[in-house]
Amino acid sequence: MVKRAIRVVVVGGGVGGLVSAIELARQGMHVVVLERAARVGGKMRQVHVGGREIDAGPTVMTMRWVFDATWDAAGASLDADLTLRRAHLLARHAWGSHQRLDLFADVDASAAAIADFAGKAEADGYRRFCAYAKDIYDAVREPFLRSQRPSLTSAMAAFGVLGLQGVMKIDGHRLLWNALTDFFKDPRLLQLFGRYATYCGSSPYLAPASLNVVAHVERDGVYLVEGGMYEVAKALVRLAERLGVTVRCGEHVHEIATSGGRVSGVKLGSGEMVHADVVVCNGDPAAMVEGFFGSHVKRSVSVSSPRSLSAMTWTFVAQPEGTYPLVRHNVFFSRDYAKEFRELFDQRVLPAEPTVYVCAQDRDDMGNAPSGPERFLVLVNAPSTGDRHRPLTSEIQQCETAAFSLMDRAGLVFPRFTVPPIVTTPIEFEKMFPATGGALYGPASHGMTSPFHRATSRTKIPGLYLAGGAAHPGAGVPMAALSGRLCAKAVHEDLASTNRLRETVMRGGI
Ligand SMILES: Cc1cc2nc3c(=O)[nH]c(=O)nc-3n(C[C@H](O)[C@H](O)[C@H](O)COP(=O)(O)OP(=O)(O)OC[C@H]3O[C@@H](n4cnc5c(N)ncnc54)[C@H](O)[C@@H]3O)c2cc1C
Repeated sequence: MVKRAIRVVVVGGGVGGLVSAIELARQGMHVVVLERAARVGGKMRQVHVGGREIDAGPTVMTMRWVFDATWDAAGASLDADLTLRRAHLLARHAWGSHQRLDLFADVDASAAAIADFAGKAEADGYRRFCAYAKDIYDAVREPFLRSQRPSLTSAMAAFGVLGLQGVMKIDGHRLLWNALTDFFKDPRLLQLFGRYATYCGSSPYLAPASLNVVAHVERDGVYLVEGGMYEVAKALVRLAERLGVTVRCGEHVHEIATSGGRVSGVKLGSGEMVHADVVVCNGDPAAMVEGFFGSHVKRSVSVSSPRSLSAMTWTFVAQPEGTYPLVRHNVFFSRDYAKEFRELFDQRVLPAEPTVYVCAQDRDDMGNAPSGPERFLVLVNAPSTGDRHRPLTSEIQQCETAAFSLMDRAGLVFPRFTVPPIVTTPIEFEKMFPATGGALYGPASHGMTSPFHRATSRTKIPGLYLAGGAAHPGAGVPMAALSGRLCAKAVHEDLASTNRLRETVMRGGI
């Protein structure tokens, strides 16, 4: 008797969805990715302005080992499919017109820059901070990043004889901002290192100190992707297709169907039914809870609150003027950081003066750029209220004026645009990623135990799984990819335990 391959539908072609598709196809399953947008990538996306493609989503690529592992496991080489170069200068930070600080991948180079900027004591604090952040990373890598459902107990068990002492290294028992004050006195450095909480869409004043790990992740390697970040999405699709995955874009999944208590497939907006033994949902789990995938699966997951941050972005082509020496990644800090986060999380309004991130996409890390107009993404944090509150044109304009004036004061001047920028608000993000209000990172990581409350790969419905940045282990491109791997591992384990898998998968499993 010939057994048929397990049929998998992956709903959504974001990073987590594509990685889960790759891992499952590699196990011999028959995988179809159904993506509602015209192109795959999800938040990793490009927009077209003035005849040029501009990255309008992620721009900072870290943790390349996650992608190496995906390519290696598929018997391929990441370097053959993508050209990555490690950045020396991580980012340039500015406060007003004269105060600037560069951070480097090299600790000594950053410590020297900090000593010049804020004195030797702060540079010493920085060195201690680097060792501390690395300790967190070493502590979370196994028990947290690779675990299906991390808990305090499982983390303690993973530390063996170190037990509670090991868990304390994760530093989840105090707030990120408080922990930073152990290392830095200069308010600008507190602001700079506090900003890493926003990489997970969280407030530095409410996130657990464990998120200081992000500073280590960035120092450990920021990569410039030749051709832009969207090349990562394209490379994932190429790898998936080489493994036999079918990718169908422009297919809105209207309903996740069940039969006899387990998942049976999905129904498309066109009415077509696609039958499946396994469905992986790469959409935000909040969409399931809110009924966007039909009533059968509404209670299959629970999502924690509050939502993470959304963003306002401007993508445009321009020839910058002024005295500010642009590099690839630039940050212009607001004058009152605490107020900015009260506005974002308590008042849920656009900040009166937002901190601004600028990605100069044609520059390398040292600031070298080809001549002529350049491509830019400008981003400020915004509340994730895109489903409840439509910011008035005047509010958007006020935010834009504040953001561009802040850059202006720091010496970065954008002259009149010949082609208007594409402005993306939380409303557009909500439209692209339903039930999120525009939140870009799933639930915020606020509170000491928040990392343990994220949705995990498994749902309450047999055969229905989650992959993506809103699920464990968290948001960001590499974390969404890790979630895709964890999801595939859960599918494999569950199918193997019900004995359906053994005769159909390739040897080696995951
Ligand atoms: C502006 C911006 C800047 C960012 N900067 C960085 C950065 O510098 N570095 C970094 O690491 N991360 C960054 N991130 C975060 C990172 O992009 C995300 O965490 C990651 O890409 C999320 O991947 P995902 O797997 O959750 O899928 P998503 O990107 O959320 O994609 C989900 C997909 O599912 C599809 N879908 C949803 N519902 C349906 C349905 N019913 N039918 C069919 N398809 C459906 C959607 O269309 C979408 O394509 C940024 C994000 C944004 C928006």
